Amino acid sequence: MSRITLILDADTEGFWTAGRDGKLKIHRCNACQRYSHPPRPICAYCHSRDVYYAEVTGRGELLSFTVNVQPWEPDLAVPYVIGVVGLDEDVDVHITANVSADPDQVYIGMRVQVGFERSGDIWYPQFRPVET
Ligand SMILES: [Zn+2]
Repeated sequence: MSRITLILDADTEGFWTAGRDGKLKIHRCNACQRYSHPPRPICAYCHSRDVYYAEVTGRGELLSFTVNVQPWEPDLAVPYVIGVVGLDEDVDVHITANVSADPDQVYIGMRVQVGFERSGDIWYPQFRPVET
C-alpha cells in the first residue's frame, strides 16, 4: 500500500518509529499519568510538559470502522478496513489505523492487536483481530 510521506519531529518520532521494536508507544504524562494521542509536547489534561513515550500492550477494541472500496491509486488493493481502536490502557486513547481483516468479518467491539507495516523509517501501526 502506498503511503503519504510523513515528516517526523521531536514530538511524533517516538510514535512512528516504536514499531521498529514491535512496540506501540503512546505519550503519557508524568504528572497525571494519563495517556494521550496524537502526541504533543503538553499534556492534554493537566498541561504539564513532563510527557514521555510509554509502551502499551497494543491491544484494544474496535470502536468504529469504515470499509474503503475506492481505488484512489492504481496500485491500491481494495476493499480494506480503516478502524478506530480504543486501547486497553485507556479506551479514550484512539488510534486510527488499517485493520487487516476481511471487511465482511469486522464488527464494532472486535478485539484487536497492533502490528506494523514498515515503509522506510516509519512503522505504521495496523491492527488485526485476535481471539478473545
Ligand atoms: Zn497530565
